[in-house]
Amino acid sequence: MTTTGKPTPPTGERFVTSGPADLLTAAISAAGWGWPVFLLGRTKRPLANCPDCPKQREPGAHNPEACPHLTCHGFYAATTSVDRIQAMIASHPDGLLAVRTGAAPAGAGVVVIDIDPGHGGRYDPDLMGPTRCTGTGNDGWHLFYRHPGQPVLSRPLPGRSGVDVKADGGYVVLPPSVHPITRRLYRWLDERAPEEMPPRLAETVLAPPVAASPAPTLTAGRPASGFSPPGGRVKHPEMLVDACLAAVRRAPEGRRRYTLYGAARGVARAILAGFDHAIGVGLLTTAGRDAQQTDRDIHAAITAAFADEGLTR
Ligand SMILES: [Zn+2]
Ligand SMILES: [Zn+2]
Repeated sequence: MTTTGKPTPPTGERFVTSGPADLLTAAISAAGWGWPVFLLGRTKRPLANCPDCPKQREPGAHNPEACPHLTCHGFYAATTSVDRIQAMIASHPDGLLAVRTGAAPAGAGVVVIDIDPGHGGRYDPDLMGPTRCTGTGNDGWHLFYRHPGQPVLSRPLPGRSGVDVKADGGYVVLPPSVHPITRRLYRWLDERAPEEMPPRLAETVLAPPVAASPAPTLTAGRPASGFSPPGGRVKHPEMLVDACLAAVRRAPEGRRRYTLYGAARGVARAILAGFDHAIGVGLLTTAGRDAQQTDRDIHAAITAAFADEGLTR
C-alpha cells in the first residue's frame, strides 16, 4: 500500500474572504462534473425551510425530493441547474457551498471520508490512499472517492475516531467556502478525478452497522441530572443562534458587552436544544472579536451566560 499522498494541511492565511462570484464559479464547475450543490447558512447548518415547507417529522410534511423550492429541505435542494444555482447564490450570497454526497444522480456519486483532527481523526495511508481531496477550514480533510454503487451509510467510520463517512443522505462543504469559526477557506489540495476506494477502505465503509449500544452521546455536554431547560423547548436552535449573532453585529458600541452576554444566553439555550456546543462557542467568540472585545471579556461573557442558563460542562 502506498505511503505517499498524505494530504498536507492547508496553510492558508486567516481572515480570507471569498465572495458570491467565487462561490458561483465553484458551484457551476461542480455542477459541470454532475455534482448537485446547495447552500448552507453562515453557521454551516442547512438554511431554514420557508413557512410552506414543514420539516420532515412535522404535520403536513411533503416529499422533500419533489419540492420545487430553491433552498428548502437542506441537501434535497441540491441541484446541477445553473439557473437554480445562480438564484440560490443571489438569495444567500454569504452562504457556504456544499455538495450532496452519495449515489448519483441525487448525490454526486461520491463517498467522502471526512477527517477531523480536532476530534482525533488522522489520515491513514494504509487504509485511505490518495484521491481528490480538500483541506477544510479547520485543518481537516475531505477525501472524495467514487461511490461503489451499492448503498453507503453516512456515519462515523467504524473503528476510527474523528473520521466520518459522508455518503448517501449526507453532504460536505466545498471550496471556496469560508469556515464559520476559523474564517479560513476550504480549498482543493488534490484535483484529480475521485479514485475508487482502496479495498480495505471499501470493506470498512460497507461493513454492516453493529447493534446499537446505549448512546451516552445523548447526554454528553449536558448538565447532570435534575436539570430541565428554562423557557420551554427551543424549536429551531440554528435560527435562534443566527438571531443572537445578528444582535451582536447590530449592537451599538457601548452595548456590545451586554449584548454578547445576552446572545450567549440564547446560544446556550440553542445548545441545550441540540445545537453543537463547540460551534456555538466558536461563533460567539468570532462575533465578540468582530465587535472588538478582548478574548478575556468574551470568555467571561460566555461562561457567565452559559452558567446562568444551567449549561455547564
Ligand atoms: Zn419551501
Ligand atoms: Zn418544500
